[in-house]
Amino acid sequence: MNKKEKEFFLKLLEKEKERVFKNLAHAREVIEKSEKGVPTHIADYGTDAFEKNLEVGLSNSESKILEAIDLAIKKIEEGTYGICEKCKKPISKERLKVLPYARFCIKCQTEKEKSEK
Ligand SMILES: [Zn+2]
Repeated sequence: MNKKEKEFFLKLLEKEKERVFKNLAHAREVIEKSEKGVPTHIADYGTDAFEKNLEVGLSNSESKILEAIDLAIKKIEEGTYGICEKCKKPISKERLKVLPYARFCIKCQTEKEKSEK
């Protein structure tokens, strides 16, 4: 991967990071608004717990993405970006354009998902 490509993917990753942060902020806003809108008698029936679950669920998946983005940025700095962590073969640029923080090539990702099911 040349310098231009590295810069391109670094920009993509930073944009993606921004998007995730915005998503998180938006999710918090929705939760805060619904908290204000919930009548106290309903809130007594455990909506609090429900909303906390919702928030935790959201931040879990989002924070995983943020982690993957940071890892990818680190890899760009180290020069190992775009290489599958499993088979060490280059991940296709098309895949990286769609998923710039991909850690595996399509083949390994599919195999991984199959074994997880
Ligand atoms: Zn692979």
